[in-house]
Amino acid sequence: MEIDDKYEVVIVGAGPGGSSAAKELAEAGVKTLLIEKRAEIGMPVRCGEATGIKGLEKLGIKPWKQAIAWQTYGAYLYAPDSTRVELVSDKPNGYTLERRIFDKQLAIEAANAGAEVFVKAYAKGLVKGNGSFSGVKIKHFNSEKEVKCRIIIGADGIEGKVGRWAGINTRTKLREMTSNVQFEMCNIELENNKVNEFYFGSDVAPGGYLWIFPKGEDTANVGLGMRSREKTALYYLRKFIQKNENLKKGKIISAFAGGVPVQGPLKKAVNKNVLLIGDAARHVDPLTGGGIYNAILAGKLAAKTIAEHFESNAPLENYDTLWKRELEKGLLRSLKVKNALEKMSDEDLNKVAKLMKNMKTKNIDIKELTTSMLSMPKELLSFIKSII
Ligand code: FAD
Repeated sequence: MEIDDKYEVVIVGAGPGGSSAAKELAEAGVKTLLIEKRAEIGMPVRCGEATGIKGLEKLGIKPWKQAIAWQTYGAYLYAPDSTRVELVSDKPNGYTLERRIFDKQLAIEAANAGAEVFVKAYAKGLVKGNGSFSGVKIKHFNSEKEVKCRIIIGADGIEGKVGRWAGINTRTKLREMTSNVQFEMCNIELENNKVNEFYFGSDVAPGGYLWIFPKGEDTANVGLGMRSREKTALYYLRKFIQKNENLKKGKIISAFAGGVPVQGPLKKAVNKNVLLIGDAARHVDPLTGGGIYNAILAGKLAAKTIAEHFESNAPLENYDTLWKRELEKGLLRSLKVKNALEKMSDEDLNKVAKLMKNMKTKNIDIKELTTSMLSMPKELLSFIKSII
């Protein structure tokens, strides 16, 4: 199996964003190539794997049974003094995915729709031509070639280079990245293995938070993300596990460390005939670190723009308008709340948690929390406003 010399669209990166764009384009009859540098799509997993059920339904994605590890019914938020805010739901509202299967599912669906998919295919650069870009330099196993195309999508994640090659400002300062570490643990005993847990405070995760996303009866993704560099995320995660009776005896069956950009989305995700989607365009939520939904949505919007461009010569810049309409407001709101959270002392966090306990939090989705300001008690609202 060899990569052809010419496609209409080349997509670099087969994460959720790249695969969803490839599927949409193939369904629109566009000759599409999806390349992934790794040997196996979805591996290694670098994700907490939590996502909302409603969001996937909205995107028209039905995860395979094997791609869903567990269903969750909301979240507990813990303040430094252990005050617990319960954001629980009567029905399951979240999945803990098996990303190694979920990502493959999306790539298989793209292939079934007619996209060509290649692994061990590494984009090394773009080919310049006629004031824009005429193709992608690809190393596939041991052979290298220039593949011609009309449009390129950079779906190459946080470490991606396509944006930079295309002249898009993708620079992220080190201080705008959280450092994260996560263990997948088994043999643990959670108080309630049907809810996600979040822990805040200077002793747990200064300027960030720790998460426990259950993956089964006695397994969970236990991770931590923070911006403080005084001690490592690994130090805090180990300390938390040691102190926690429910986790202490658990075994670590996988581990990874990685960064999440938390500066908010790029100002422009299009230049000439190159479009960026998902983490490559910094579409990840700066507050929650969630980016699966946004990457898939951005992939679909990029594909729609390109299909319209081929059909009626609509400008590719329309993509910037589309993703901004759908995503920008929420991302900027999350950025504000994240900045406020970073400034809060432990006492502030305790106070917020106590006030939140008076809110009607049943059936509020964690994703909707920042939009549910209206239901907040006046005192809480003015306190939060004073920090923001
Ligand atoms: P990616 O999934 O990063 O895919 C990019 C792909 O491009 C990769 O497969 C990569 O190998 C490939 N690639 C890169 N360069 C090249 C190249 N030159 N040639 C070919 N291929 C290339 N999100 C959630 O929704 N829920 C969570 O619980 C969650 N937890 C997270 C926890 C951590 C610690 C981290 C770091 C992230 C977490 N995220 C979470 C974020 C989520 O993982 C990303 O937002 C999501 O994967 C973005 O999808 P994407 O398609 O944009 O990029």
